[in-house]
Amino acid sequence: MMLCRICHEEEDDNSSSMEAPCSCSGTLKFAHRGCIQRWCYEKGSNVCEICLQKFEPAYPAALPSPAKLPLIDTVVVIR
Ligand SMILES: [Zn+2]
Ligand SMILES: [Zn+2]
Repeated sequence: MMLCRICHEEEDDNSSSMEAPCSCSGTLKFAHRGCIQRWCYEKGSNVCEICLQKFEPAYPAALPSPAKLPLIDTVVVIR
């Protein structure tokens, strides 16, 4: 039986939605992929706070937000 370290819900062994994204072991080893992704968004980080290993496979650390994109020249020059 695996336990998600983030939402603490149990998962059957035959489920494929659980991942072991870092070097943590024991009860902290597994988490849902969706839960890890949400954690990354909330923390703005994709590095485990416990073992300090970057989550694998790579998770984006931030939501793609238009507000965070570099400002591109959108000024319309009125002639
Ligand atoms: Zn979960
Ligand atoms: Zn870890």
